Amino acid sequence: MDKEAMISLVIPVYNEEANLSHLLERLRRVMQKMGKSYEIIFVDDGSRDNTLSILKGFLTYPEVRIVELTRNYGQHAAIFSGFSVVRGDIVITLDADLQNPPEEIPNLVKVMEEGNYDVVGTIRKERKDSFFRTFPSRIINVVARKITKVNMSDWGCMLRAYRRNIVERMVNCHEHSTFIPALATYFAKKVTEIEVVHETRYGGESHYSLRKLINLQFDLVSSFSDFPLKFIMYAGIGMAFLGIFFGVFLGIARLVYGAHWAAQGVFTLFALLFAFVGFQFFALGVMGEYIGRIYREVRRRPEYMVERIYPTDESRRICVS
Ligand code: UDP
Ligand code: MG
Repeated sequence: MDKEAMISLVIPVYNEEANLSHLLERLRRVMQKMGKSYEIIFVDDGSRDNTLSILKGFLTYPEVRIVELTRNYGQHAAIFSGFSVVRGDIVITLDADLQNPPEEIPNLVKVMEEGNYDVVGTIRKERKDSFFRTFPSRIINVVARKITKVNMSDWGCMLRAYRRNIVERMVNCHEHSTFIPALATYFAKKVTEIEVVHETRYGGESHYSLRKLINLQFDLVSSFSDFPLKFIMYAGIGMAFLGIFFGVFLGIARLVYGAHWAAQGVFTLFALLFAFVGFQFFALGVMGEYIGRIYREVRRRPEYMVERIYPTDESRRICVS
């Protein structure tokens, strides 16, 4: 890799007014010290606070570009919209809340260049989040490892480096599931991961509720495997066998103990029935999720809508430090 590799930083931003100036200051300090050409792409994901006007204020710096989305589309869609306009050879994503210290960027680039990797993932040393935020992530990590068969330890950390060609492949595959780390490893040939420092949020609060995390998890599972459908099938077969077994058991018990016992056994039947009905609803729900996703795919509605890209003057977009 030549020394002149340009770096694009892609940062999704949603209501982060408290963090932005501090973030920019630290980013610029780090990037200027590195001495490579770079650009910083902020994606405003439909923020409702002062985020956009603060970002526009940053346009006095020649390396800053802003992608303004029409509304809030979520972190992964926002990163995708940033990916579609990057011009660097190495693309690095990070959070705007300073949980991913910008000081780790040079190391990420170094590892990528020296090992000629396509993707450099990261593991958060001593993650600084609450239990309710880390526990769902742990489940996501286990499932992601099983499904993609790639042994990455920390899928959720967004401080990652991608080669431009991987980013292009992701942008071109037009898939609605947007679990970027999984998609990237799927396309990459050489993947590694390094440890990075994790910090507490500088200002504001996390935007991930349990509902969003469950959605993300299902996105990941349903887009990389049809395991849930198979699971239902096998569970259904298992249940059917159980049903037959219980039927035979109840029949024999009736013969041995007489009709009196069997009349009370009606309740056992009810219990079984409820189990089956419950399972059927569960199965319907899973099918419904897949069908919903198919519907979204065939509709082909864009995953995000760009309102404007700043600066509008194309000539001053690349910063060479
Ligand atoms: N984010 C976004 N759109 C959203 C939610 C979050 O662009 O709908 C951004 C957010 O501004 C931050 C990053 O995604 O830069 C990670 O979000 P957050 O810190 O809330 O997530 P957590 O650290 O809890 O995983
Ligand atoms: Mg965060």
